[in-house]
Amino acid sequence: MSEQITQDPLSQFTLSQKNPGRHLKEVWEHFTKGDLKSRGHYEATCNWCKTKWSHDAPFNMKAHLTSHCLQCSDDIRHKYMELIANRKKLVLIELL
Ligand SMILES: [Zn+2]
Repeated sequence: MSEQITQDPLSQFTLSQKNPGRHLKEVWEHFTKGDLKSRGHYEATCNWCKTKWSHDAPFNMKAHLTSHCLQCSDDIRHKYMELIANRKKLVLIELL
């Protein structure tokens, strides 16, 4: 019996939400999806510096673009810095 899971139900759920899902998906503009490693998780390679993740982690990938990637353009770096700053604000609001 072959188990074929092409999409994590959770990520499908996230994509149907408003902004967070869209941002999650957006980060893939700068990464190449590799092999499916586990439910809904793929290998990911940075299109700019070719750093490779064995297991995609969109938040870490965004953090990579903002502070670790040596090759991506300033425009992209600033865009993701803003996204992460907004996300932190949202988290703070939720904690209040
Ligand atoms: Zn990179």
